[in-house]
Amino acid sequence: MPAPQRSTGQGQWALGDREPLNTNEQFKKEDDGLNVRQRIETVYAQNGFDSIEPNDLRGRMRWWGLYTQRKPGIGGGLTGSLEPAELDDKFFMLRVRIDGGRLTSEQLRVIAQVSTDYGRDTADVTDRQNVQLHWIRIEDMPAIWERLEGAGLSTTEACGDTPRVILGCPLAGVDANEVIDGTDAIAEVVSRYIGSPDFSNLPRKFKTAISGCPDHCTIHEINDVSFVGVPDGPAGTPGFDLWVGGGLSTNPKLAVRLGVFVTPEQLPEVWAGVTSIFRDYGYRRSRTRARLKFLVSDWGPERFREVLEKEYLGYPLQDGPAPATPRSKRRDHVGVTELRDGTFAVGFAPRAGRVPGTLLAQVADLADRFGAGEIRTTTEQKLIILGVRDVDGLTAELAALDLAVNPSSFRRSTMACTGLEFCKLAIVETKARASDLIDELERRMPNFDEPIGINVNGCPNACTRFQVADIGLKGSLIGGEEGFQIHLGGSLGVEAALGRKVRGLKVTSQELPDFVERILRSFQAGRTEGESFASWVRRADESALQ
Ligand code: SF4
Repeated sequence: MPAPQRSTGQGQWALGDREPLNTNEQFKKEDDGLNVRQRIETVYAQNGFDSIEPNDLRGRMRWWGLYTQRKPGIGGGLTGSLEPAELDDKFFMLRVRIDGGRLTSEQLRVIAQVSTDYGRDTADVTDRQNVQLHWIRIEDMPAIWERLEGAGLSTTEACGDTPRVILGCPLAGVDANEVIDGTDAIAEVVSRYIGSPDFSNLPRKFKTAISGCPDHCTIHEINDVSFVGVPDGPAGTPGFDLWVGGGLSTNPKLAVRLGVFVTPEQLPEVWAGVTSIFRDYGYRRSRTRARLKFLVSDWGPERFREVLEKEYLGYPLQDGPAPATPRSKRRDHVGVTELRDGTFAVGFAPRAGRVPGTLLAQVADLADRFGAGEIRTTTEQKLIILGVRDVDGLTAELAALDLAVNPSSFRRSTMACTGLEFCKLAIVETKARASDLIDELERRMPNFDEPIGINVNGCPNACTRFQVADIGLKGSLIGGEEGFQIHLGGSLGVEAALGRKVRGLKVTSQELPDFVERILRSFQAGRTEGESFASWVRRADESALQ
């Protein structure tokens, strides 16, 4: 056994620090977040918004995917100075978790109906494969859960200090070139552990990815725990390489390999072991240090592996190989992919993830007409219809709905977080800004066809991961005007690295199209043959990046 350790004063349960050290830890100790479900159904839905107890309203509701949304009309300049009660609207955002991004047309239709019946026709596909609805009233939640859960959907632990949705490759099980199909492993982790009181009080959110995608589409580098498919384990059979400690936000870190091979059968208990380490050893004193990445960074991979094997699994894991480099520069599965059974996957791009309920219902109908009634969400705010035979027919129908199968680079790779429209932490508007930027860049640079990720974030929290985008935009106020601080040249995959902050580089929202056009033209002029934007940024002179 590793040597006994003394308290570090960081609120690590395993070292005896059980006293709650901040208000979040206090409310979690007083009552488990999952218990709010019963109060919503039996008290709050009957008595209305004003009856909700504050620690439920701004705390435990999240365990069931509910956050209050931002009151309309409050500018970003007031975000930091108002009390939560002044920012809260009496409506909620509701996140539906879609583990592995897997949806049937029937399930998508139910989400669409909930959006139109209860959410003013709003819906966004998030970059964690969820669908997020807005304008939800607490009075409607019992009926909404009845509909969602009746269709096999869930909002359990979609937010909160819990194991959030599990990312999986949208082509799992059908891609002829996949390394291993992670579908069963995801289902097993969900059925054993999601909603379990064993993991409903973690130090903070906990993000998982499980995939054998040859494009590495589940962004394993920035999850708390990731299982990445490898073809040849020690016995010559496929399995998973284990990564831990990735995460962005205000202190970004890329995940590290533990160097172990995990068989598909071992995966659920290894997941539980890593999650237990986070629960027991994670830092609970400060919310900003309560992510697994800080523990991994302090311990290093060798010690983390030792604790996992000796204290949690009770057996050593085998050493294993690293995954191969990704198949393609693109990780989004947009476009047409031939599948194992000779049918096709057709991936398409809405605008920065915005997909109203009425549109989702039309997509569900198209999935039935042209495909096998199977839809997938991606980690890039895109959708895919599987089992398609008439690709041209479907592509034309999607185009009529402004859903692009062959999008411009700008439509394809621009993502945006929720932003000022609904998010209480936001400083600037994002979705509409991203949509306008796409239109403007398509008009100005119609022939630009390099992969170029432009990630628009409304504040420093990095929900849409500005640090790993080619052009990462972090919302801020610039001389009282809405604008962005710029991070350049972030990337995942072969050259995984965080973006470069260029001194003093910020632009107002008005200046944004001019700035992006200027830097892309500098890139075109200064790049070497085949050089990616991120590589060019890393070597470019600061003057070329202004
Ligand atoms: Fe809200 Fe900020 Fe996250 Fe955007 S990045 S959704 S503004 S918290």
